[in-house]
Amino acid sequence: MTENSVEKIHNAEINWATIGKKWRKKWSENRIFESETQSLKKKYFLTVAYPYPNSPQHVGHGRTYTLADAHARYKRMKGYNVLFPMGFHYTGTPIVSMSQRIKSNDTELIETFEQIYKIPEKIISSFQEPEKIARFFHEEIKQGMKEMGYSIDWRREFTTIDKAYSKFISWQFRNLRKKGLIAQGSHPVGWCPQDQNPVSQHDTIGDIEPELIEYVLVKFKFEEQYIIPTATLRPETIFGITNLWINPHINYVIALVNDEKWIITKEAAKKLEFLNMNVSIISEMHGSNLIGKYVFDQLRKEHLPIYPATFVDPNNGTGIVMSVPAHSPYDYQALVDLRKDVDSLRKYNMTVDIVPIRIIHTDTFSSNESSPAESIVNSYSIKDQSDPKLEEATNKLYSDEFHNGILLPEIEVIGNLSVLKARDTMREEIINKGIGTSTYELKNAVICRCGTPCVVKLLTNQWFINYGDEKWKKLAYELIDNMEILPEEIRQEFTNVIDWLKERACARKSGLGTKLPWDNEWIIESLADSVIYMAYYLLSNHIRNDSDTQNSGNKICADDLGDSFFDYVLLGKNDSHLVAKESKISVQLLEKIRNDFLYYYPVDSRHSGRDLVPNHLTFFIFNHAAIFTKDKWPRQIVVNGSVLMEGKKMSKSLGNIIPLRHAIEEYGADSIRLTMLASAEILQDSDFSFDLVKGIRSKLFEIYRSITIHKDIFTLSENRTDHIELEDLWMSSRIQHIISDTTSAVEKLRIREALHSILYLMDNDLQWYQKRKLAKNKSISNIYLKEFFETRIKLLSPFAPFFCEEIWEIMGNNSFISLASWPEVDDSKNKLKTEDNERLIQDTIIDIHKITKVTKMIPKKIMIYTASSMKYKLYKKLLNRIESQSTANFGVLMKEFVNDNEIKDFVKQNPELVKKMIDDILSESLEVRCRRTKIDSFDELIPLQDARSLLISEIGNDQLEVNIFSEDSSDKYDPKQKSKYARPFKPAIFIE
Ligand SMILES: [Zn+2]
Repeated sequence: MTENSVEKIHNAEINWATIGKKWRKKWSENRIFESETQSLKKKYFLTVAYPYPNSPQHVGHGRTYTLADAHARYKRMKGYNVLFPMGFHYTGTPIVSMSQRIKSNDTELIETFEQIYKIPEKIISSFQEPEKIARFFHEEIKQGMKEMGYSIDWRREFTTIDKAYSKFISWQFRNLRKKGLIAQGSHPVGWCPQDQNPVSQHDTIGDIEPELIEYVLVKFKFEEQYIIPTATLRPETIFGITNLWINPHINYVIALVNDEKWIITKEAAKKLEFLNMNVSIISEMHGSNLIGKYVFDQLRKEHLPIYPATFVDPNNGTGIVMSVPAHSPYDYQALVDLRKDVDSLRKYNMTVDIVPIRIIHTDTFSSNESSPAESIVNSYSIKDQSDPKLEEATNKLYSDEFHNGILLPEIEVIGNLSVLKARDTMREEIINKGIGTSTYELKNAVICRCGTPCVVKLLTNQWFINYGDEKWKKLAYELIDNMEILPEEIRQEFTNVIDWLKERACARKSGLGTKLPWDNEWIIESLADSVIYMAYYLLSNHIRNDSDTQNSGNKICADDLGDSFFDYVLLGKNDSHLVAKESKISVQLLEKIRNDFLYYYPVDSRHSGRDLVPNHLTFFIFNHAAIFTKDKWPRQIVVNGSVLMEGKKMSKSLGNIIPLRHAIEEYGADSIRLTMLASAEILQDSDFSFDLVKGIRSKLFEIYRSITIHKDIFTLSENRTDHIELEDLWMSSRIQHIISDTTSAVEKLRIREALHSILYLMDNDLQWYQKRKLAKNKSISNIYLKEFFETRIKLLSPFAPFFCEEIWEIMGNNSFISLASWPEVDDSKNKLKTEDNERLIQDTIIDIHKITKVTKMIPKKIMIYTASSMKYKLYKKLLNRIESQSTANFGVLMKEFVNDNEIKDFVKQNPELVKKMIDDILSESLEVRCRRTKIDSFDELIPLQDARSLLISEIGNDQLEVNIFSEDSSDKYDPKQKSKYARPFKPAIFIE
């Protein structure tokens, strides 16, 4: 059958669109995801970062939400009263600048809307108003979330520009300010020169958070009246400078900078302006004019030559580089290149007789003959200064010196200090002596969504949140130490962010959002108004919305919300009667809202993508630590990786952005959900492809078919009076095993692992069970199969909810599987022996196949010999000793056993066998070993005899004779004395 015709059958039997529509309607009519305070039931409050509605969701957005939904559904089945709400984040400038681009007829943006997202022209033209954009995509995203089957309580939906939300944010900010955590002052920020606004992750192309880095500008004197400044991250190396580098192929300017005449690149001059320096350009000059001349080093009172180097980048620092050839591979290599460059030497009339000055010692790179830079350049076999390996060599040396370096004792001021200490000391020294200053640059290339490269701007009168406050940091550490982080391996990233976080700009002059309550010129920015809003979900359903027209009699009006309301509800301050009066609501309603908060808060789980670790998620920790009491601190953060499309990052230029709703329409939500969740473990990037989606859809179809052909079993009663066969016990036990494994994987959100077992491993079990029954001419349509299918569908339902609801109905249930109980392990069905039974049968079949393959025999008679009872006795003793971890040493064990009356004669005669059995045990998994210690007795004759019909059908034809003997049996047929080779779990085989 061709792939296409298989597809057609799938689609004929399962209409994904119809199933989706059917269950969405039923869920909504029965309001099964609406959560209310139930004091007797345990709650689970789960939130995920709300979306920013400036485009429809594409496949890449879906992963975080799908994982959160699966988590919510799992907890609901585990018996929790789950609240999973959703809001929409309108705050900030991107939507505003998008509307401006529409106004100015930006063809690129309009084409994206038309071609990728298929938005009608008429709607696009309405996008000149920012709120129309937000509203349109808000509805679009919400519809997509419904179509994906997210189990959201939509009654609590809000936007961040709702009047009541602004009241809430104002309260948050007055609170932070009262605690001294907000201040105004000069502050460097990432900045878009075009928009005249600070930028953070939400505003940049590729969602890159600008990282600021502080440099020291060292000023060298040039011809008395000029300053040549160089920017460095390593001021401690100033004692090792031998020369400066200038790029002879670029232009420099003489600029008046705060009354000094500086020689720098034009690009550098521009950057200094944003740092509030007074900069005016006097004249231009070519780099080559400076080559061969000398500058004066004000610290060491020495003259240093200026040499040419092409690695100097006009955009980097000042466009002039100080050269420390003993400790910088670039500088060292540029000197080597220059010595060989006869043309340049002649042209500038120079000689290069520089000796690198060593100033730092590390154990790795210090030798007597050469400097660290020389050593590492040689070890990387670097050709010249354009060699890309120089970057790697530099990183390696810098990192080694940073972590392990000590300044040589003879160095002034900083001798014997660690590099880290020397760096701070020299920075202060240079600034205090007036021979330098500090400056900022962006560490990473950041481009604003408007297309303009960003810079660092020193903002004056900027409002910022002081995440550098030491007491606050301590609280943040305390919070995170008491919180679960999934996966645990990302905890260190959080700790690092808390470490380096300092002041952060929290307000802007434009964009959508809440005005700073005490300074109305400013608007609170999007990473500041999105950190404690999880609490707002517990209020939002009680507040009359701007759009509410009817039925809102017993809701609060946004205009009546004051700080006293929030203080009462969220912090338990003030008298309820007074607050109720002020808020113009009844005391009962006020107390209900307070109770809702007490019941649902804290957040039990916060989901987000990994890109939000350095900002949103850490701010979420800080702000909760500042505002709420410890019992209301969040309990868990879940972080997931991003989504690649067929191995590539999704981007407009690659044309691989697939709108989520289009994908749902084509493939159905369940297959897309499963592909997102099954293709990678949580922190890895998942690689999405439609081939995978199709593969998963076929798998669902297979499951559907296997269940529908056995439809009758679902009316079977639980009465187990039928004769119970070994394979039935095994199946029943396997189900317990799968429940236990899957549950512990889902608890840690190792969803890929869970789905692997539900979708694939369970099939292996089903096939084996079928084989065993078939060999006995028995039907599998029984209560064990029923339990298998019911368990499988329940385990699958958090991940593929539409499909599982449909099957659940086919199974004859009148309830929702979304509300069913998660399967629990029934220990009485856990039969340890059954696993070894079935494995013994499988292994024996494999062994016989191996023998017949090697000997090319067509067997007429097969004899299988199981080990003697003495060997079992020995096995048990060995296993116990090895499992109790005392020893697996042959000599030690033998010494012990020769004194053991039960087995001493036997082991003396069979030392080789003891060795083999030790190896047998060690080659088993820990799980198997542990299981076997719990089994009192094991009789291999029983399973092998039970499977005789299967052995015959698997190996030969009906004429084949299979005989099974114990080694102990006196009337066994053993013409070749094979039975003595039998070992426990490794029967001997003889074929005629
Ligand atoms: Zn911009």
